[in-house]
Amino acid sequence: MKELVCIVCPRGCHLQVDENTLEVIGNSCEKGAEYGKNEISNPLRTVTASVAVEGGIHPRLAVRTNRAVPKGKMFEIMNVLHSFKAYSPIKRGDVLIENVCNTGADIIASRDI
Ligand code: SF4
Repeated sequence: MKELVCIVCPRGCHLQVDENTLEVIGNSCEKGAEYGKNEISNPLRTVTASVAVEGGIHPRLAVRTNRAVPKGKMFEIMNVLHSFKAYSPIKRGDVLIENVCNTGADIIASRDI
């Protein structure tokens, strides 16, 4: 059994997940069961970071993926963001990189600049 704290909502239920059957106990709702199963079989995370930006009032721009991506892809995505440069003007929600690292997720701006 793997012990986890559900992070889907502030209640923070303590979950136990059977690594063989993916049965989840301790969840108070179905979202928690889904979270527990995914954490064992295919953990996902939203990536938040910043990238260099040229022509803006700040040297860096906060960005994030527009959906959760496999946790194992995070370092690869961070390497892409490390060498990426955006150019102002940019609106919040603008897509800066499509399908980053073939995850199906886009990198989008978290603010205007
Ligand atoms: S199991 Fe449901 S109620 Fe409990 S923390 Fe997760 S989402 Fe919230």
